Amino acid sequence: MLRSAAAPTLATPRVMGLTAGTFFVAGGAAALAVILAAHFPDGRDRLVLLALAGTAVLTGAGLLVAGWRLPRPAYHGVLLLGTVLITLAVPLCPTTATALAISTVYVLVAVDVVFFFPWQHGAAHLAVLFAAGAWALHEREGVSAGVVAALVVVCLVVATAIALLVRIASDASHDGLTGLLNRRGFDVALDAAVAAGRTAPLSAALLDVDHFKTVNDGGGHGAGDALLQRIADQCAAALPPGAVLARYGGDEFALLLPGHDGRAALAVVERLRAQAHGAGLSAGVAQLSGGESGADLVRRADTALYAAKAGGRGRSRLDDLDSVELARDLALAVADGQVRAWFQPVVSPTSGGLVGVEALARWTHPVRGAVPPLEFVPVAESAGLIADLGRAVMADACRSARALRDAWGRDLLLTVNVSGRELTAGGYADSVLEVCRSTGWPVDLLVVEVTESLLDGSSGAALQALEELRGHGVGVAIDDFGTGYSSFSRLDTLPADYLKLDSGFIAEITTSPRRAGMLTALLSLAGSLGLQVVAEGVETEEQAELLVALGCPLAQGWLFGRPVPPADLAGARPAGPAPALLPPHELGTPHELSPPVR
Ligand code: C2E
Ligand code: CA
Ligand code: CA
Repeated sequence: MLRSAAAPTLATPRVMGLTAGTFFVAGGAAALAVILAAHFPDGRDRLVLLALAGTAVLTGAGLLVAGWRLPRPAYHGVLLLGTVLITLAVPLCPTTATALAISTVYVLVAVDVVFFFPWQHGAAHLAVLFAAGAWALHEREGVSAGVVAALVVVCLVVATAIALLVRIASDASHDGLTGLLNRRGFDVALDAAVAAGRTAPLSAALLDVDHFKTVNDGGGHGAGDALLQRIADQCAAALPPGAVLARYGGDEFALLLPGHDGRAALAVVERLRAQAHGAGLSAGVAQLSGGESGADLVRRADTALYAAKAGGRGRSRLDDLDSVELARDLALAVADGQVRAWFQPVVSPTSGGLVGVEALARWTHPVRGAVPPLEFVPVAESAGLIADLGRAVMADACRSARALRDAWGRDLLLTVNVSGRELTAGGYADSVLEVCRSTGWPVDLLVVEVTESLLDGSSGAALQALEELRGHGVGVAIDDFGTGYSSFSRLDTLPADYLKLDSGFIAEITTSPRRAGMLTALLSLAGSLGLQVVAEGVETEEQAELLVALGCPLAQGWLFGRPVPPADLAGARPAGPAPALLPPHELGTPHELSPPVR
């Protein structure tokens, strides 16, 4: 849409200075041409016209040099001055022809007017300009009302055409809502900055509005738009010189920071996040490294942003790994079966008996050593490796769990983590069922863990994949519940069987009576919704005792066992019968894909 309320965004201070300056010099030069070419019966007219031409040229030169320093409103004065100079010059011209020649300079002023200002301000300027022009020409012999009207029409048509063209050009690289550059404009600026040279550091950041969907859903699109405009204004006001801020997508902003290394860029982003009152922002930052393109840089910033969101949102992450290299090594490791699933016990806190295991991906890089999953999972996601990684880990986990089940002669539950992009990519349910089939792991002993935040803004594809898996008997766990914006009401609608309470929540149950109260309420709520609760990150006896007292059915944490290679658990055959594994409503459901238990 062509916006009428704002000036075209192409009219930056520098462009305004250059355009107005050039037009003033051109107007002055036209007057000088008349002075040189025409015969003046009255020598005084010639001198005054010379003074006016000189004023125009000098003003133009001043604008060319320093016009970019003038605030936009000052250009109202500049353009009025132009109108006045022409209106004084026209009556001094010795002939009708020269008067008409000079009055064409009005067109230059009109063009500036519609370029620099919003439509309504431009219209006011044009009205003044046409009135002045009509007055300047009214006593000329041979200049009828029709001639003036013809001049006005030509001037109007030229000005309107220019106005439309600059607005179209502005809109192509700018965002209509915030007035910032859009993705295309940002990419142009980014490529220019990358090409400009590699001597100074260059960093980029992506910032994402946390829970934007909630704002949009709750307050309507008007509220969402207002929030984006406010964030854009607040961030733009706090930018360092030379920085470029753009609206990169729906609720995503991009920032280009020439001259900033990764750490300095992170500091700027932290300042912007603090500046954006009333909205949480997650951010990913990356510094350009040798041989990288602008697109590579943005991809790494996106990886870091993803990690920031996975880490609980409302935070910034700096991608200080050379993730291009890491992704390449990871691809080889996945193909080579070097990414393994380790198992952390999931127990009944009452008896301490083992109920199942959570599979956690482990990768030891030949040079870097052990790389934590919180680092390599986002890399896999942005490099398009996540489906392969997820399948490899799940297959390894299923094979190892089957070996344990065979060795112990009893069932255990196997839970496996799923990442957002894995679930939304399509074909996830089929891929899981295929892994179960090929490894001989019973579908009804498998649980996939997803985070609530993954589901809250997600497409129907994620929910559909989970529903499909549940239809086949695979359980679904909501992971990390109790962080960020976890919402009780969502529990009712999520397709889940297990609720895993985040370690951050569990850490406070023995120190905060309110937390203990919440836990009591959550257990009762989960019970009535048919959800089994798993307390994560249990590290102390006190926590375990409280969980037992409150009747929490399942727990996991260093107190009961750290993640270990599956073979380490083979000797630890749990005593007694396997505790109830499945949520009450799932018990007794036939699962066609389950192989017979040996
Ligand atoms: P998560 O699913 O919340 O996994 C639990 C994390 O807490 C694990 O970290 C585990 O080692 C750690 N942990 C367990 N007990 C305790 C405790 O008592 N205290 C403390 N402080 N920490 C404890 P890990 O293995 O580094 O995994 C981190 C995250 O990486 C996981 O968080 C999960 O989101 C992700 N992840 C791990 N494996 C995979 C995978 O195969 N696929 C995907 N998509 N994500 C994975
Ligand atoms: Ca998990
Ligand atoms: Ca968790």
